[in-house]
Amino acid sequence: MLLLLVAFSANVMMAQQMPAIPVDEAVRVGKLDNGLTYYIRHNNYPEHRVNFYIAQRVGSMQEEDHQRGLAHFLEHMAFNGSENFKGNGIIDFTRSLGVEFGSDLNAATGMLTTVYHVNNVPSTRQSALDSCLLILKDWSHGLLLEDEEIDKERGVIHQEWRMRNTGQLRLLENTITQGFPGSKFANRMPIGLMEIVDNFPYQALRDYYHTWYRPDNQAIVIVGDIDVDYTEAKIRELFKDIPAPAADAPQVVHYPVPDNEEGLYITFADKELTQNEINVYFKYDPIELEMKGNMSYLVINYLKSMMCSMFNARFNEMKQEADCPFTGAHCSNGEYIVADTKDAFGISILPKDGMAEKALQTVLAEVKRVKLYGFTASEYDRARQNFLSTIETMYNKRDEAPNLYYGQVCCDNFLKNEPLLAIDTYYQIMSTMVPQFSSDIVNQSIQQMLIEFVQDSEKNMVVVSNEVEKEGAVHPTAQSLKDAVAAARNVEIEEYVDNVINEPLISNLPKAGKIVKEKVNKTFGYKELELSNGVSVILMKTDYKQDEVRMNAFQRGGKSLYSEKDRENLYWLDVKVNTITGVGNFGYNDLNKALSGKRAWAQFDMDDYIDYVNGSSNIKDMETLFQLVYLRFTGMSKDEKSFKQQMLNNDAMFLKNKSSNPEAVFDDTVEYVLGNRNWRSKPFTSEDLKKVNYDRIMEIAKERTANAAGYTFTFVGSFDEAAIRPLIEQYIASLPAKKGVKTNWADIAEIPTGENITHFTQKMETPQGMIRVYWLDNKIPCTLENEIKVSILGQLLSRVYLQKIREDAGAAYAAGAAGWMDLKGNRPITYLLAVCPVKPEFKAEALKIFNDEMKNACTTVDADGLKEAQELMLKQIATVKKENAYWEQVIKYYQLYGYDICHGYEDIVKAQTPETISAFARQLLQGNNKVEIVMTPQD
Ligand SMILES: [Zn+2]
Repeated sequence: MLLLLVAFSANVMMAQQMPAIPVDEAVRVGKLDNGLTYYIRHNNYPEHRVNFYIAQRVGSMQEEDHQRGLAHFLEHMAFNGSENFKGNGIIDFTRSLGVEFGSDLNAATGMLTTVYHVNNVPSTRQSALDSCLLILKDWSHGLLLEDEEIDKERGVIHQEWRMRNTGQLRLLENTITQGFPGSKFANRMPIGLMEIVDNFPYQALRDYYHTWYRPDNQAIVIVGDIDVDYTEAKIRELFKDIPAPAADAPQVVHYPVPDNEEGLYITFADKELTQNEINVYFKYDPIELEMKGNMSYLVINYLKSMMCSMFNARFNEMKQEADCPFTGAHCSNGEYIVADTKDAFGISILPKDGMAEKALQTVLAEVKRVKLYGFTASEYDRARQNFLSTIETMYNKRDEAPNLYYGQVCCDNFLKNEPLLAIDTYYQIMSTMVPQFSSDIVNQSIQQMLIEFVQDSEKNMVVVSNEVEKEGAVHPTAQSLKDAVAAARNVEIEEYVDNVINEPLISNLPKAGKIVKEKVNKTFGYKELELSNGVSVILMKTDYKQDEVRMNAFQRGGKSLYSEKDRENLYWLDVKVNTITGVGNFGYNDLNKALSGKRAWAQFDMDDYIDYVNGSSNIKDMETLFQLVYLRFTGMSKDEKSFKQQMLNNDAMFLKNKSSNPEAVFDDTVEYVLGNRNWRSKPFTSEDLKKVNYDRIMEIAKERTANAAGYTFTFVGSFDEAAIRPLIEQYIASLPAKKGVKTNWADIAEIPTGENITHFTQKMETPQGMIRVYWLDNKIPCTLENEIKVSILGQLLSRVYLQKIREDAGAAYAAGAAGWMDLKGNRPITYLLAVCPVKPEFKAEALKIFNDEMKNACTTVDADGLKEAQELMLKQIATVKKENAYWEQVIKYYQLYGYDICHGYEDIVKAQTPETISAFARQLLQGNNKVEIVMTPQD
C-alpha cells in the first residue's frame, strides 16, 4: 500500500508497477487508412434508438487572429447545406425521423473540441440509419459553405451573441482573458469577435474548414441498437474516399499555459451578475496523456475525488454557522478553467456581501488545516461509503446506462485519452481496491498531494473575484485579496473535530399497523391497499429500472388553503422547507452525515394545490426510505442554524440583486401577469423576507402532515412485494391519521381574461428584446385528446416561427412555441406560448408573425409538419412508458383528478388531421384571452 504514497509524485515509476486499464470489449474501435477513427457499440437503452457523433480534436484554439469566431460559425454552417443535404436538408430529414433540432440534433464548439450529434434515431429502418452516416460524412468533408448561406448566418450568430452576452458570459470572458497571460487561450473564446463574424471573407471560413476538419482529427461514434459488423462495413465503405491530410499539413498544437511565479489576482464587476464569487486555483501539470491508460490513473482520480468530497463536506458544515463569511464553497480537481495543458486544484466560494476577503481567508485557512493535520478517519469513512455506494448503484444499473453515456465515454477516449472502461470492470477494480486502502494511508496520501498542489509561496496560485456592480459596493482589490491570502498563511490553526450523532434515525420503533384490505385496480393493474389507520397505498411493481423504488404521497390542499397573511411563509415553504428543517434529533447537516453511503431520501413539499411527501431509494436502503418518510410525518423539527443561514445570506443577497438582472425581471413579470396579478404570483423581494416567520412555517408544515389518511401513498419500482409489505405495516400503517378525513383545494386562481398587453423597458448591458405571447383558455376541458391537440399545435407553430424569424429574417437566434394544459385545483387551463429573444428593432415584426401564424393555423396546418410531430410523440411515449416516473404521474393524475393520461394516447395521436388541429386552434382563439409581454432595452 505504500505505493499510494508515491502515486502523485512518481507517476512513471508507478506505471511500471501497475497494469494497463482493460478496454471495454463491447466497443469496436478501428481506424481507416486516411486516419479516421471510429467507435461502434451496441446498446439498447433507451430501447431501439441510435446516437451518432462526430468528434473533432479542434476548436477555436486553431483559429488565426483574423478567424476569431469562425470555428463556431462553421458549426452553424454544418446545418445549412452539404453535398447530400441541400439547404436545411439535415434538419428536415432528421425531423422526419422524430429527431428534434436543438436537442437531439445539435453541436457544440469549444476551445479544444467540436462535437456534432444526431441522437435518439429510431433503429427500425436501416436506410434511415445509413442516411445518418451520410450526415456524418457530410459534416466530415462535404459542407458547401455557400456565399449566400454564410451571409444569412451572420445575423443569426450576431443574435446568438446578444442573447448569450449576459453578465455570466462577460465574467467568463474576463477570467479567460486575464487568467492566461502569455497564452493563446487568452484570446480564443469560441463566440469570437462580432466585427469578424459580420465581415469575414468567405474564404477565411473555407480555409478553417479544410485545414482542420480532416480524418486524422476526427472520430465517428455510433452507439445504440445497431448491427456492429454491418455498421463497421458501412463506415469503411462510406469514409474511405475522404482524402488523408497532406504530409506537410499543419498539426494541432497543444498550447501551453505558463506558470506564474507570483500570485495572479483578477477582479471583475458587472451589473448583471446576481452573485458575488471568488475562485481560487492552484495550477499543476496534468498527468501525461499516455499515463491515462494505466491503473495508477484510477488511483490518482480516486484520491483526488476523496479530497474534494471531504473538503466539500467540511465547507457544507462550516456554512451552517451564522458567522461564516461564505454561503457556499465547492472544490474541484481537473482542467485549469478551459486548458488541456494545465490542471488545477480549485475552490469556488460564494462570499456574503462585503466579505470576499474574509471568505477567501477562511477557506484558505481550512486548506492549511488539512495541509497540517490531514482529514480524520471518520471523515474518510463517510466519503468512502458514499463512493462505494455510488459505484455499486452504477454497477446495479449497468444495463440502463444510456446511449448518451457510452457516446460520452467514446468521445472522451478520442478527445482526451480518457479510459475506455466498461462499467462492470470499473466496479470490480474499485470495489476490490478501495477496501484494501487503510484510512491512514489514504489520508496521508491526500495530505501529501495537497502539500504538492498548494505551495507555501504564491507560485501558480490564481485568485479571481467576480462581483455584482451596484451603487455603494466596495469591491475587493488585488491588494486586499493578497492581504487575505497572507492572513490565512499566518493564522494559528487547530485540529478539526468531527461531531457525529451516533444513534439510529428512529430509536423506538412505532407500534406497527396492518394491511386490512387489498384489491387490484382493473384499469392499470396495480395493487390498492388499505391500512388499519385509514391510509391508502398503491403498489406498482415494474422492471424498468433494476434498482429503484420511488415513493410519492400526495393530498389535495397545498398553499390554496392559506390566505394572503401567510404569503411570505408560503413562499418559503415552497422553496426552502427541506433545507431549514431536520428530522428528530438530526439537524439538516447531521442527517447528511448519518445518511453517508445510503441511497435514500424523502422530503415534504407544498405547491399551489397539492401537498407532497416524495422520496426514493435503492433496494438495499428501502427501510431507510420508510424511516425518512415516517419522520417527515412525525418528526419534522426546526434547524435554527440552517434557517438563519438561508435567511441572512443566500436569499437576501440573491433577492437584492435580482432587480438588476433583466432575465429575472422578465420572468417575474410573466409570472405575475399570468397569475392575474394575484398576490399569490407577486414577485418575492428582500423586503418580504422580513415578514417570514419560522414558527408559522413549522406550524403550517405540521398541519399539512398531521393526517396521513389524507394522503395516497404510491410505490413504483423493482421492489420485492414480500419485503415491502412489512415495511408498509411498520412505518406507514403506524402514522398518525384520521380515518376518512380529507382536505380539498380551496382558493383557485383565475386566469387573466381578454387582452393583456404589457410592454416595458429595462436597463441592460446588451440591448436585447424579449417577447412572450400566451393564448389561454379556462373552458376547454382537460382531456387527453385536448392535451395532445394543443401540444401538436405548439410544435407546428414552433417550426413556423423558427423558419420565419430565424431562417428567413435572421432576426433572432431562437424562436419557438409550445402548447400544454395544466390543472389548477380542478380548473383546466390551456396554454399556447410563443417566445423569442429578438433584436429590439424587430419587435413589431416578430409580434406580427406570432399573431398572423396563429390565425393562419386556424385554417391551414402543414400536413408534413403534422406527420413529423406525430412521429416524434409516438417515439417519445414509447420511451417514457418505460420510466417509473411516468407511471408515478399516471397514478397521481388518476387518483387526484380521475384523469387517465395513459390509455389511448397512441390512437389519439394517430387520429389527428390538419382539420382537427385547425379546429382546436379556432376553439382556443375564440376564448379571446391573450397575454403579451415585451421587454425592450431602456435608452
Ligand atoms: Zn451557436
